[in-house]
Amino acid sequence: MTFDELGLSPNTLKAVAESGYTEPTPIQAGAIPKVLQREDVLGIAQTGTGKTASFTLPMIDILSQGKAKARMPRSLIIEPTRELAAQVAENFEKYGKYHRLNMALLIGGVSFGDQDKALMRGVDVLIATPGRLLDQYDRGKILMSGVQLLVIDEADRMLDMGFIPDIERIFKMTPFTRQTLFFSATMPTEIKRIVDTFLHNPARVEVARPAETAKTVSQYLLSLKSNDPKTKRAKLRQILTQDGLKNAILFCNRKRDVDIVAKSLTQNGINAAPIHGDLNQSVRTETLERFKSGDVTVLVASDVAARGLDIPDVSHVVNFDVPFHAEDYVHRIGRTGRAGRKGTSITIATPVDAKALAAVTEMLGKPIPAYQQDVAEQKPVTTEPSKPKTTRREPKKSRPVKAAKQPEPVSRPATPVTTKTNTSGAGFAGNVPDFFLKD
Ligand code: ADP
Ligand code: MG
Repeated sequence: MTFDELGLSPNTLKAVAESGYTEPTPIQAGAIPKVLQREDVLGIAQTGTGKTASFTLPMIDILSQGKAKARMPRSLIIEPTRELAAQVAENFEKYGKYHRLNMALLIGGVSFGDQDKALMRGVDVLIATPGRLLDQYDRGKILMSGVQLLVIDEADRMLDMGFIPDIERIFKMTPFTRQTLFFSATMPTEIKRIVDTFLHNPARVEVARPAETAKTVSQYLLSLKSNDPKTKRAKLRQILTQDGLKNAILFCNRKRDVDIVAKSLTQNGINAAPIHGDLNQSVRTETLERFKSGDVTVLVASDVAARGLDIPDVSHVVNFDVPFHAEDYVHRIGRTGRAGRKGTSITIATPVDAKALAAVTEMLGKPIPAYQQDVAEQKPVTTEPSKPKTTRREPKKSRPVKAAKQPEPVSRPATPVTTKTNTSGAGFAGNVPDFFLKD
């Protein structure tokens, strides 16, 4: 699915492309066409799934026709907090850069005078927190009769914050003929009642919670301080040559990286092959068969190519970067630890992954434990006085070279070398953190 298929205008698509998004998230794919058809929408999806763009993008196109009158906002977006309101405003600025829409923020902490001026100019989009909006309304500064589109975002948070009576009032103030878009991560009874009362036959777009991350998977995080691709690939080679790694699926966020990484690994004597959507089907099938048979040790994959693949016995999943969508993290690591077997996942994160990592952490409800190898490296083991030269670095550096010298790396047996000093695998055995999604 691409953004082009959703019915958005060329100018909006251009702004989306410039923001770097390539594919709509499930809530976006489901909600955008419905909003453009002017239906009421009930969107249910957890935090971090891209709900904001699922209403801002179609709103920009809908509001591009027509002009706002003083004090009569054409659309109204209610957010529970100032920060969320400000974020939505940023979204409008980013995606609406090729449109001329007037926007105003009505939140606490901004002077009434400035807000009043903005309202006088006439706004296409008014983004507000409930308290400040009702204040201004009660002072007679806003007329609600021009509101064609009302968005209630983060409804369950509104409930937690005691805003439901305010929301009911806002519903009653706006015209009955308005289009209503309503978003919530969960649907407690109180929220359901509001939806049943104030939405008209809404299209329900629900994105299922990702399945619980498999408890048989030990998850680790390797945080790198730099974004340098070379350092990253070197670290990756250490991971892939550790003890106990029978085979691995290595996920990259970008197709381009899938090819680059597969090539780099092969050049360094690691038995790897790429699989992504741009390769033709027969190549993909063949690569997959070779991976299943043990002929290929590391399958380098994109999310799309790996979706639905049934590979029963993978010892490791490695994330070359943190997936853009938190739910993909669950899908990725679910490739190991299947059928009750133990599996390990290692996620590499560099500073550019910070946002994505925060989303994954939030979804999991706790941070991913640090990958032990990283710790080990900072504290070289000094318990072998007889061999002072055997530092941690030495074997790691030489390992890929050694492997490269093998005449036929492709046919390297899947059984790992067991005689080498157990350095890189340190800290793995027996350390099985139990991971649950928060509820
Ligand atoms: P929600 O409101 O569901 O919690 P947001 O709308 O705040 O989620 O989006 C969460 C993050 O995902 C933001 O950083 C946003 O920039 C990013 N995002 C949204 N849509 C996409 C997309 N289609 N592709 C990539 N990233 C996206
Ligand atoms: Mg949101």
